[in-house]
Amino acid sequence: MRAIDATRLYFDRAADRMDLSENMRQLLLTAKREVSVQIAIELDNGEIATMIGYRVQHDDARGPMKGGLRYHPEVDLSEVRSLASLMTWKTALVDIPFGGAKGGIAVDPAKVSVRELERITRKFVDGIHDVIGPDIDIPAPDMGTNAEVMAWIMNQYQKYHGFNPACVTGKPVELYGIPGREEATGRGVGNFAVKLLSRLGRKPAQTRVALQGFGNVGCHAAKFLSEADFRLVAVSDISGGYYRPDGVDVSKMLQYTREHQFSLHGYTEAERISNEDLLELDVELLIPAALGGVITAENASRVKAPLIIEAANQPVWPDADRVFEDRGTVVLPDILANSGGVTVSYFEWVQNRQHYQWGLNRVRQELDRVLSDSFERVWTISAERKVSLRTAAYILGIGRVGRATILGGIT
Ligand code: GLU
Repeated sequence: MRAIDATRLYFDRAADRMDLSENMRQLLLTAKREVSVQIAIELDNGEIATMIGYRVQHDDARGPMKGGLRYHPEVDLSEVRSLASLMTWKTALVDIPFGGAKGGIAVDPAKVSVRELERITRKFVDGIHDVIGPDIDIPAPDMGTNAEVMAWIMNQYQKYHGFNPACVTGKPVELYGIPGREEATGRGVGNFAVKLLSRLGRKPAQTRVALQGFGNVGCHAAKFLSEADFRLVAVSDISGGYYRPDGVDVSKMLQYTREHQFSLHGYTEAERISNEDLLELDVELLIPAALGGVITAENASRVKAPLIIEAANQPVWPDADRVFEDRGTVVLPDILANSGGVTVSYFEWVQNRQHYQWGLNRVRQELDRVLSDSFERVWTISAERKVSLRTAAYILGIGRVGRATILGGIT
C-alpha cells in the first residue's frame, strides 16, 4: 500500500461520519501546489550528482502552509503528498494558524559529506525560494534533517529575500531558534502517554514500553517516559533492537549514542532482538517512532500491546488499524501523537515575528496547554461519536479546515 492511499482511507472513514460530499472531499484532498526540482551538485570528488527535491503545499485555508523537510533515500512524490496532507489535519487539530505542507529529497544523509549536504540544501532552496516564505510555506526538520540544515535554509532564503528568520523553524537556538523545539515531539509523546494512562486507569510503573526508533523523537520520548516512571523494556534503532525485561537504562543508552555517532550499534547491556521482534513484544505500550508502514495486516495480529502511540508518521497501515479497532487496541494517532513538534515550531515563528526570545519554561507550559486541549477534544469526540481516536482526530481536523474553506469563500 502507498502512504497516500492510507491517508485517503483514514480521511474517508472520518468524512463518511461527517457526511462530506464527494466534491468537498476532492477539494480538501487535492494539493494546492506541488513543486519538483532537479538538484545538481558537485560532489567532493569533483563528480556531478543529481537528485529530485519535492515540496507539496497541501492546503492554506487556515494560514501559511507548514511542515518538515525529509532527507531519506526512499522519498518520493506520493509519500510527500501523503505527509503534506497529514500536516493539514495536524495543524488544524492542535488549532495553530497554519495549513499543511511537506518536502523531501531522495538522498541518504549518511552517504554524503556535510559540505555536500549543505550544497544539496542550498540548491533546493534556490529551486523553491519563490514559493516558500514566512507567510506562504515554512519548512522545518523531519527525518534526516536537523537544526543545522534549517540554518542553511534560512541563510540561503535570506540571500534572495533579506532578513527573515521566520522563513523556517527548528533553527539552532543560537540562530533565532527557540529553546525546547528539539525535545518538543518527544515531550509531547511522553505527555500523551501520561494522559492516556490516566484516562484508562493504568499506572506508569506497571506499564512496560517498547520503543521503535532512537532518533530525535525516540530519544526525547524515552527520556520523558523514564522520568515519568514508565518501564522502558526495549528500544531499537537502525542497528536493531535492545531488550531487557526488567527495564533498560535510558540515561546509559543516551550517553552511549552521544559517544557513538548517535547509534546504539555495539551496545551490550541488553539482549539483542530485531526491529520486527520489538513490535511483537509482550508489553503494555508500543511506540513506533521511526519509519512509516511498519505495522501491516501481516504482523498486526502478532502485536500484543493493548496501547499504541504513533510517534512516527503513518506507522500503522489501515488494514492493521482495522485489526486493532476490532480487538479493542487503543491507538493514539500520529496527527495527534507527534503534534508537539509543529506546535513549538509555531511558537518559534511567533517569537521570530515578535523579535522576542521565549524562555524554555514558557515554551513547555504553552505546549502542555495546547496538547492537553487537543487530547481532551479528541477524547470527547471519540466517546460521544463512538469512533476510534484516529477517526475522532480526523473529524476535528477536517471539520476545522472545511469550515475555514467555506468561510473564506469559494468563488
Ligand atoms: N516534521 C514535523 C512533523 O511531521 C514538524 C513539522 C514542523 O515543525 O513544521 O510534524
